[in-house]
Amino acid sequence: SQPSPAPRELRLHDVFIAVKTTRAFHHSRLDLLLDTWVSRIRQQVMRPHLVVTNCSTEHSHPALSCKMAAEFDAFLASGLSWFCHVDDDNYVNPWALLRLLRAFPATLDVYVGRPSLNRPIRASEPQAPNRTRLVQFWFATGGAGFCINRKLALKMAPWASGSRFRDTSALIRLPDDCTVGYIVECKLGGRLHPSPLFHSHLETLQLLRAAQLPEQVTLSYGVFEGKLNVIKLPGPFSPEEDPSRFRSLHCLLYPDTPWCPQLVVQ
Ligand code: UDP
Ligand code: MN
Repeated sequence: SQPSPAPRELRLHDVFIAVKTTRAFHHSRLDLLLDTWVSRIRQQVMRPHLVVTNCSTEHSHPALSCKMAAEFDAFLASGLSWFCHVDDDNYVNPWALLRLLRAFPATLDVYVGRPSLNRPIRASEPQAPNRTRLVQFWFATGGAGFCINRKLALKMAPWASGSRFRDTSALIRLPDDCTVGYIVECKLGGRLHPSPLFHSHLETLQLLRAAQLPEQVTLSYGVFEGKLNVIKLPGPFSPEEDPSRFRSLHCLLYPDTPWCPQLVVQ
């Protein structure tokens, strides 16, 4: 028989990136992403580019699970090799993402992200009449972003596609990101591959050193106890001009961007 051809190296075109958002944030959050990282990889971010769901516009478990289901279904329909979910307050470094995903052998089922807790979460899974089973599993923080390869996503479909994601989430009464972990670990016997390269605003972002920033897969910004929780970068933009620091980060990664201050070399 013919030797099988060497697997082709993963390209950004193989990665589907879903950004969860809501109308109220289109101006305040999405414009910033469109000006920065999304502008570099427009093709990879949600094809078709905007999916308007009929999910309710609130920050409730069912509404957010409804959106995760829409992201998952759009990925399945895309035919691409990797599904990555992020929130609209995440900065994605596509090259760092590609480097991470390329390291996984194609034969593995992969669910990779930042573990939300330092131990597995517990949930009770309703069983046949009046019985429950205690289950425990790891899950990746949705607000830091996570990725799943197609091989695993196809196995998740019976619990995650269409209306089933919401049903699964309602069954264990946990948010959408926990539900992903539950499906992978409890339904499929898989596991979360922990990666420290994903970041949400639940961690102290200013602890990251400037030299580490270009290696991170995702970053975020937010407010914690009334104070801005952002990455530490001296410039080029002031905190007033760039409160999230995403524009400054973008200029560090892509100094040729027209709106970045250009270094004049004489
Ligand atoms: N979000 C949403 N509908 C809402 C509120 C929030 O889809 O009614 C999205 C939001 O765009 C973001 C994610 O849910 O991608 C998390 O929201 P946020 O960052 O405001 O809250 P967090 O959970 O991080 O505190
Ligand atoms: Mn957030």
